[in-house]
Amino acid sequence: MANDADFYSANFALQLKNKEMKTVLITGANKSIGFETARQLAQKGYFVYLGSRDIDNGTKAASRLKAEGLANVEAVTIDVCNKASIEAARKFIESKSGVLDVLINNAGILGSQPQSASEMSTDEIRKVFDTNFFGTIDVTQAFLALLEKAEVPVIVNVTSGLGSLTLHSDPSWKYYPYKTAAYGTSKTAQNAYTVVLAHELKDKGFKINAIDPGYTATDFNNHSGPNSVEYAAAFVTKYALLDADGPTGKYFSPDIESENNESPW
Ligand code: NAP
Repeated sequence: MANDADFYSANFALQLKNKEMKTVLITGANKSIGFETARQLAQKGYFVYLGSRDIDNGTKAASRLKAEGLANVEAVTIDVCNKASIEAARKFIESKSGVLDVLINNAGILGSQPQSASEMSTDEIRKVFDTNFFGTIDVTQAFLALLEKAEVPVIVNVTSGLGSLTLHSDPSWKYYPYKTAAYGTSKTAQNAYTVVLAHELKDKGFKINAIDPGYTATDFNNHSGPNSVEYAAAFVTKYALLDADGPTGKYFSPDIESENNESPW
């Protein structure tokens, strides 16, 4: 007799095939903000493809969510710096659900320190751009055809407040001294790509935005951030859930204290 796991797996396969369940791929979801976003979207009934460059870490993370009763999660190997790995992930998701409703480009690295504009080597800067900028582009391009099959295709590019040139020009901004030659610049470039892509795909109904999760306690910053992963992921999740009336080509941050949290570029 089939066990509960087999029953749920067969049931989800049927729902995915019939496109009744919305699907999301989150890169770098084996821990921290990506993992918590996976949890929150699974709780909202999405089928979550939990991306991890290391399959063991991804499987362990998916098992943690399954142990919480969230059976609608599956680990997928995806290294955003490796085109073969991205293509394998695309083929896997295509064969499983034939559509992708939401892509969250969350995987990101800070890069080596210090990040002096006058001294940091371009080799080190390139490594950060490979993940944060080119990784976002390669993953996005690979999944566009599957996203186009969604009713309202959504892309969330997880950025940082440190990508805002306007804020970097304001001496009264609280993160004004945090100038980084690789990390901040890679997020500025990712923001620029977000604007260009959103414009190109606006007539196809895409909702594509740059979302800063805010300064959050994770491995990324040795847990120095003041915000929790729950708070950061709730902000990211809000923009993953956009419908046809939602904004596109915008930049949002929980640090911007206005009604809609829209950030200047
Ligand atoms: P984190 O704790 O360092 O986690 C980063 C995730 O990205 C990990 O799962 C990591 O995988 C994955 N990753 C790195 N390189 C990858 C690659 N080449 N392919 C696939 N996955 C890769 O960072 P976080 O704090 O959760 O940050 C998530 C996102 O939020 C990043 O884009 C970051 O820039 C942004 N952000 C964070 C903060 C903050 O204060 N934490 C603030 C603003 C923006 P491994 O476990 O295998 O290393």
